[in-house]
Amino acid sequence: MAFMTGNVLRNLMGKYSTRLYPIEIRPAFEAYRGELYNEIEKCIFCQSCARKCPSQCISIDKEAGLWTCDPFACVYCGICVEACPVNCLHMKSTHRHVATEREMIEQKGTPPKPKKKAADGEAAAPAAEKKAKK
Ligand code: SF4
Ligand code: SF4
Repeated sequence: MAFMTGNVLRNLMGKYSTRLYPIEIRPAFEAYRGELYNEIEKCIFCQSCARKCPSQCISIDKEAGLWTCDPFACVYCGICVEACPVNCLHMKSTHRHVATEREMIEQKGTPPKPKKKAADGEAAAPAAEKKAKK
């Protein structure tokens, strides 16, 4: 017991090892992986981020143009940011704010319109016209 006395006194008298977050916030360092956000106007709703996410916290409703992330399940690994083909996912240099209730990050965008497939007859018509002109 006596051998612990030194440690106990040091812990009681010394500086705290932890911070009183969110009152005291540590400044962000370079390449800090903070809160995730989506530049939704650039998003093409390809679902790459949702497929690659190891904690399966991203869900996408392409029809409704809704991109959702559960920040309480996110492990801030940044894999989704790397997987995004249009670079619309980013991580802020600040951590998410303190919450007393489970809040989802929901962003509403406009999914790209599906390309119309030309009907066989329509596709063949221009080719036939070209041949006729020759
Ligand atoms: S940072 Fe990692 S855990 Fe969080 S949403 Fe992206 S891939 Fe998923
Ligand atoms: S990977 Fe990028 S473009 Fe694709 S759904 Fe996710 S955020 Fe949108």
